[in-house]
Amino acid sequence: MNCPLCNSESKLAFEAKGFRLHDCTRCGHRFTAIAADEKHVSEVYSDDYFSGGGAGYSDYLAEGEMLNLRGRMYAEKIAKFRPEPGKMLDVGAAAGFILRGFIDSGWQGTGLEPNAEMAKFGAKALGLHIRKGSLESINTNDRFDLVSMIQVAAHFYDPRSAFEKARDLLVDDGLLLIETWNRESISARVFGKNWHEYSPPSVLQFFSEKGLTKFLETVGFEKIGGGRPSKKISGEHARSLLKYRIGDNRLLKLIPAKINFPYPSEDLFWAVYRKKQT
Ligand SMILES: [Zn+2]
Repeated sequence: MNCPLCNSESKLAFEAKGFRLHDCTRCGHRFTAIAADEKHVSEVYSDDYFSGGGAGYSDYLAEGEMLNLRGRMYAEKIAKFRPEPGKMLDVGAAAGFILRGFIDSGWQGTGLEPNAEMAKFGAKALGLHIRKGSLESINTNDRFDLVSMIQVAAHFYDPRSAFEKARDLLVDDGLLLIETWNRESISARVFGKNWHEYSPPSVLQFFSEKGLTKFLETVGFEKIGGGRPSKKISGEHARSLLKYRIGDNRLLKLIPAKINFPYPSEDLFWAVYRKKQT
């Protein structure tokens, strides 16, 4: 099977959960060697994905407050590159808690989500506009100042088309925000084949930070910033930090003090890319 990024030949790296994981012989990209399409998207992101544990979220809705804060955190990071909030598209929005965090920070946002129930929930409970669908298949004349993909890039069945679509949906100096897993991280190396992200068929692409940046340059993006999201912190700690930063806010009461937020560790990274002028 050819590499979904550069179309070169690939060879078997190892098998995980009965699926073959291949490495590209040219660019080194690792991917699940299955022919996936829109049907795959609707099968994998069924309601079970969001509530059944396993490869998806153990209980996505219960994590709502934390995800909202995550959206606010990223809105703050993006403000360094674009001080004025604008129009954004959040790809793989689920019920939209992260998107809500951006909107609370001044952005005008639309979500894109393949799971109909999630999209409906976001519209009803959070008052959001969430389109049902995937980036590979979206058809719109809208243009955005920011496209965000928080833990989504690893799930694209056709990453080249998805990122080309993201580029085309952006205005000339538009930004692309990505948070995804780094297969060259220490954890990934230590756990080897047992690294948690090697969980096909929902996870199809295994990026490294460098590999993703190199690939995105071929699509028309340049990296302008990045880092690692914060580590695990207790709700109490989160509250006091937030109180210090944003002052007393009714939202803070929503954070359960005793729970340690499962903030992902060093194998996750975020990066901001700017669409190159053509
Ligand atoms: Zn390749």
